[in-house]
Amino acid sequence: MSVVRSQWYFLLVQPTTDHQLPITSSRPTWAEISLPNLIHNYLTIKSHLHGEAQLMAVVKANAYGHGAVACARALEREANADWFGVALIEEGVELREAGITRPILCLGGFWHGQAGTIIAHDLTPVIYRLDQAEELNAQAQQANRVVNYHLKVDTGMGRLGVPLAELPAFAQAIKRCANITLDGQMTHFAEAEAIDQEFTRTQLRGFNEALSIVQAAGFAPTWKHLSNSAGIHSHPNAWGNLARAGAAMYGFTRDVLAEVPEAFATKPVLSLHSRIVHLKTVPAGTPLGYGRTFTTTRTSRIATLPIGYADGFHRAHSNNGHVIVRGQFAPIVGRVSMDLTMLDVTDVAAVELGEEVILLGTQGSLQITAEDIAARIGTISYEVACSLSARVPRVVLDSR
Ligand SMILES: *Cc1c(COP(=O)(O)O)cnc(C)c1O
Repeated sequence: MSVVRSQWYFLLVQPTTDHQLPITSSRPTWAEISLPNLIHNYLTIKSHLHGEAQLMAVVKANAYGHGAVACARALEREANADWFGVALIEEGVELREAGITRPILCLGGFWHGQAGTIIAHDLTPVIYRLDQAEELNAQAQQANRVVNYHLKVDTGMGRLGVPLAELPAFAQAIKRCANITLDGQMTHFAEAEAIDQEFTRTQLRGFNEALSIVQAAGFAPTWKHLSNSAGIHSHPNAWGNLARAGAAMYGFTRDVLAEVPEAFATKPVLSLHSRIVHLKTVPAGTPLGYGRTFTTTRTSRIATLPIGYADGFHRAHSNNGHVIVRGQFAPIVGRVSMDLTMLDVTDVAAVELGEEVILLGTQGSLQITAEDIAARIGTISYEVACSLSARVPRVVLDSR
C-alpha cells in the first residue's frame, strides 16, 4: 500500500511528512477517493455499452458522497464523460461554476423560481408537469433563447413522471411552448436488478408507447434513456441512446445487480479512515459508552476513534460489526456516539496510539466494502456512501 501511495499526488492537500500518510487536517478522520478507479469504472461501463449508447455520469448528492466537483472534473478531463446527471439545479450550478462544460441533466426537475438559473447556467432540466414547461418557456422567451429539456414519463416507478394515460393531453399542451425543445424522453426503472425481468419489460413497452405518442404530437426527442446501473448491466434492449450510471460507477455492484460477471468488474472508489486517539487497558466488568450497552468480560484493550454518526458512521454500528486494525478485524463495542466510536483491540497485537484504522476499504488481505456495511446495518451501499458528512475531509487520490 505504501508503495502505491508513494506514486500518488494528493490534489487537495499535501500528506504530512511524519507518517507519509494523507492526513488532511488536524482531525484524524478522512475519506479517500480514488479518481483512477472512478475513471476505470466509467470506461468499463462505457465499453459494456459497446458504442450503442452514450453514458451519463450521475454525480448527484455530492457524487454519492465522493465529492461532485473532483469526480466530475476527472470524468470530464480523463474519461471524456458524455453527460452529467444531478438531482438539483443547485448541484448543476456547482458543476458549472467548477468549469464543467458537458451537458448536465437535472434529474429531479426544478422548483418554482429556478428557470432563470437553468438558462443562465446552461443546464438541462427534466420536466414532468405542465406548469414547469410553462415557467421555463416564459423565462426562455424573456431571455430570447430556446432551451432544451427532457420529458420524464412514468412507466411503472410511480414516483416522478407524466403518467402514460395523461401523456396525449400533455403532449398537445406543451406544443404551445415555442421557446423550449423536447430534446429527450426518459423514464426510470423500479426493479431493473430483479431476476424476474417481466416488470422491466412492461416499463420498456410503456416507454416505447410514450415515444409514439410524443412523436405523433410532432416532437422528435434526440435522447431516449431509461437505464440506471442495473438496467445498463441487465437490459441491453433498454439502453436507448443514453444510459445513466451512478452506483456502478462508484464500484457498488453487489447490492445493486442481481449477479456481477467478470466483464462488469468495477473497483471501489471510496475508503474511510481514522486513527486511534485514545487507548487504554481496562479490567473485566468495565462498562463502555452511552447506556453501558457493552461491558468487558476480560481485561481488554479499548481504542477510541474520532468518528461518529455525525460523520455518517451510522449509530446502527453500535456493538455491530468491525473495522480493520493492523491487518486484523477488531469489533466495534458500545454505542457509536455523535463524534466517537470504540473498538476492542485486545486480540490485535501491538496496537499503538495514532494507529490507522480502516472503517471502509482494504488493508492487507482484508476488505470492508460499502455493500458489507450496508448489509450489516440494514441499508444499501448508496446510503452508506451518501451519508458521509461534510466534516469528513475528502482526500482525492490522482495517479497522474
Ligand atoms: C440516481 C439516478 C440514476 C442512477 O442510478 P444508479 O442505480 O445509481 O445507477 C439514474 N437515473 C435517475 C433518474 C436517478 O435518479
